[in-house]
Amino acid sequence: MTASRLDVGILGATGIVGQHLVAMLAEHPWFRVTWLAASERSAGRRYADLAWRLPTRLPAETGALTVSPLDAVKDAPTLLFSALDASVAGDAEIAFAAAGRDVVSNARNHRMDPLVPLVIPEVNPDHLSLLDAQRLARGWTGSLVTNPNCSTVVVAMVLGALRQFQPKRVMVTTLQALSGAGYPGVASLDALGNVIPFIGGGEEEKIETETLKLLGRYEDGEIRHADFVVSAQVNRVPVPDGHTAVMSIDLGTGPSLEEVTAALESFTAEPQKRDLPSAPAHPIVLHTAQDRPQPRLDAAFGGGMPVHCGRVRRCPILGYKLVAMGHNVVRGAAGAALLNAELMAARL
Ligand code: NAP
Repeated sequence: MTASRLDVGILGATGIVGQHLVAMLAEHPWFRVTWLAASERSAGRRYADLAWRLPTRLPAETGALTVSPLDAVKDAPTLLFSALDASVAGDAEIAFAAAGRDVVSNARNHRMDPLVPLVIPEVNPDHLSLLDAQRLARGWTGSLVTNPNCSTVVVAMVLGALRQFQPKRVMVTTLQALSGAGYPGVASLDALGNVIPFIGGGEEEKIETETLKLLGRYEDGEIRHADFVVSAQVNRVPVPDGHTAVMSIDLGTGPSLEEVTAALESFTAEPQKRDLPSAPAHPIVLHTAQDRPQPRLDAAFGGGMPVHCGRVRRCPILGYKLVAMGHNVVRGAAGAALLNAELMAARL
């Protein structure tokens, strides 16, 4: 993959996730951004003339590109990252996949489609095998792969590391960052000094259902969802980046606390074995300090790609409890899609 870089495009390049993709792809050893698309509001304009909202410099090569409209399907390169708003992602992603493009999406629209792999490379890389059945059934020359909701990534990484202990019941309460709502997101007068115990778009259902698909098994050309149960409650909190998930977990095999912490700390998977460019050295960073993880101190560590875990202890109801946290825009979105694309490229 290192001889020449593959041209890639970004659908929804002007949003929060799209801009993080631009930043993460700037120095990428395998991929090179050559095409951008967004709404009619942005189409026809030079990317550098639109608002850049990251603290890093806009890469000059990408800034020189003119933003295309979403219907310019024939101009798009073969590999596309989608960071489109869910109101348009559904039909647009299908149009690009049908037209021979490999679409790696952040949007929620197709995640639970039985023929669309929902993938975290450390948790269920084998689900990519579903793509053969997808192409056959849909008649697409391209393909569509999704990454999970930004809180689900945090929850599923923890459960992936603990899978050997057979999770049975999981209670999760999230404290979700403002950047998870896109730009401009939640009104400042609603958000500041406040906790909002509701996030629209079916956020709780996404955590409860996507987790079971992710932890499911690929068998006979389909995904058999895991049979444990997840109950989620979500809250929006005035944190810029980093979703926290406070979890209580019932583990069927009844491991010791030492076994649980060792499994989290030593967790490693295919991205690390393959040394994928965006793979964190340790998918889970285990904290022993009683007051960690914290979004402000930990979310940006390792480029935002690890999930952080701390306060692993006994729960008098479900057996085990802990606090997990991950960068919602990086590990929960842009970096998740990028790692999926790297995994797909490495498996070719
Ligand atoms: P955002 O900041 O609101 O950006 C949305 C993008 O979609 C913009 O590029 C926008 O283009 C484009 N868009 C909106 N309406 C369009 C239309 N009618 N036609 C074409 N393009 C249109 O949202 P975001 O936070 O980056 O999220 C992007 C996607 O990732 C969403 O599906 C979201 O649910 C998902 N996601 C986000 C996060 C997160 O933490 N933020 C995490 C996981 C998944 P214009 O700028 O031209 O309007």
